[in-house]
Amino acid sequence: MIEARGLGKTYETLEHRSVHALSDASFTVRDGEFVSIVGPSGCGKSTLLKIMAGLLPSTAGTLHLAGRTVTGPSPEIGVVFQRPLLLPWRTILQNVLFPAEIRGVPPSHIRDRASSLLDLVGLGGVESRYPHELSGGMQQRAAIVRALVQDPTLLLMDEPFGALDALTRERMNVETLRIWDAQRKTVVFVTHSIGEAVFLSDRVLVMTPQPGRIARVVAIDLARPRT
Ligand code: ADP
Ligand code: ADP
Repeated sequence: MIEARGLGKTYETLEHRSVHALSDASFTVRDGEFVSIVGPSGCGKSTLLKIMAGLLPSTAGTLHLAGRTVTGPSPEIGVVFQRPLLLPWRTILQNVLFPAEIRGVPPSHIRDRASSLLDLVGLGGVESRYPHELSGGMQQRAAIVRALVQDPTLLLMDEPFGALDALTRERMNVETLRIWDAQRKTVVFVTHSIGEAVFLSDRVLVMTPQPGRIARVVAIDLARPRT
């Protein structure tokens, strides 16, 4: 599904400094696998995820998704960030339909899928509510539905529950596995918590910060408790 070979990223800052954020990242993610990426703050996790999302060009290496080179954002790739980024003047249903809408997909084509996904995550009753009427956990569940609505082959999540309280976060982790069991997506999940990564994943890629902020990616096989 995902083949990364020697991926690297050097940012050029406005002051003409080079920041080596990611270096020589090589790994494979199999179809239907749940993989977490862990590492301390600043080691390049978000950079790697944005490259995988097609939101940021790499400066070294190659990245293939299902045999094709990733060249930009696509409906094949759903992304969830730490903040739900819902549009406040749109209802929950209008929000989850929005990315498809701006791609020109008629809402009627995905309306049923959106509703059944909202049901799956327990938001069936609040489709026509506005984001501010929902709790943080509910908003983040809406963001997950928005990422899944176009039936992507890959779901990328960047610290998706990092802004939630501990109890809500644990519930969301259990919820994530339930969604994963129901949808069978390939998932790449970025977190700074090893506990969370072990709880969720089939495999964990550990990123190691080095002098010059160059990170290495190491794959470890771990057994995840499964339902
Ligand atoms: P993490 O997600 O692991 O916290 P990031 O990928 O956000 O790490 O950042 C990796 C490194 O790249 C950090 O040193 C960060 O300061 C730097 N960085 C991130 N984005 C930019 C940018 N747009 N310009 C310059 N440096 C950046
Ligand atoms: P940290 O690494 O942040 O200090 P832990 O390793 O204790 O904290 O756990 C991190 C997160 O992993 C928890 O907040 C929770 O989201 C998740 N987690 C761990 N075990 C479980 C579990 N049994 N059920 C649900 N979530 C869990």
